[in-house]
Amino acid sequence: MAIKRPVLLVTGGSRGIGAAICIMAAARGYDVAVNYQSNGAAAAEVVDACEAAGAKAVAVQGDMARQDEIARVFTDAAQALGPLTQVVVNAGITGPSSRLAEADPAVIAHCIDVNVTGAILVAREATRALLAHSQAPNRSIVMISSIAAGLGSPDEFVWYAASKGAIDSFTIGLARELAPSGIRVNAVAPGMTETDIHALSSGEPGRVARIAPSIPLRRAAQPEEIAEMVLFAMSKAASYVVGSVLRVGGGR
Ligand code: NAP
Repeated sequence: MAIKRPVLLVTGGSRGIGAAICIMAAARGYDVAVNYQSNGAAAAEVVDACEAAGAKAVAVQGDMARQDEIARVFTDAAQALGPLTQVVVNAGITGPSSRLAEADPAVIAHCIDVNVTGAILVAREATRALLAHSQAPNRSIVMISSIAAGLGSPDEFVWYAASKGAIDSFTIGLARELAPSGIRVNAVAPGMTETDIHALSSGEPGRVARIAPSIPLRRAAQPEEIAEMVLFAMSKAASYVVGSVLRVGGGR
């Protein structure tokens, strides 16, 4: 009898850290649903890479700040791949960087919509899906936080740091709520990682080069170095890891 592969949904799986998680998970035996918002070509490349690694994979478009689209993405992913067993709540933005006094209120509101309200709604949908699939072993949810939660991101995007602080609190509460049902919830908090978020979301292409000298390891992370911790958090090796915020910050 064929062994059923675990089925993973990654929000914001088309680029950056999410893409690295999808591709690494595919190589380690998961089937993968790759959510994206607008860059369908990038999502298709990730699907190709997952399939090349031997996984079933599907791209699922949807804005993870909108409840109707979140619900549809979960339905589409399960229809394509079968019941979900793991969800990584990764989609996130910073918005253009500035001091708070100069920040556009719409930028702040959108960041909170995606990073907090959207992430909580995605986790809610994940909770419902995983509770309904009670026979599956090793069900888990991983929230992508940031070490910004503890640093505060002054002069750049204090609202973004606050959004990730909310995720850390949320992780502790949801983990305690779901542990008795056998579902593990944890967060992974990356430090500065080389992705497009700096150029495309914060609007500072040189941000990694500016900040890298102040990181104890003197460099940003590669997305795969973050994905390794996410894969650990989802794995059976992490069977007693519950409600933890796992920092991957290069010493920062
Ligand atoms: P990225 O390279 O900018 O990629 C963002 C991904 O999220 C893309 O796949 C994008 O889809 C998707 N996305 C954005 N808004 C979305 C929405 N509303 N609905 C659905 N998908 C959406 O970002 P990243 O650097 O990999 O960051 C991933 C996560 O890690 C975020 O939560 C971020 O806060 C966190 N993080 C990043 C760093 C860092 O230094 N990079 C550090 C700490 C934490 P499209 O391709 O369609 O645009």
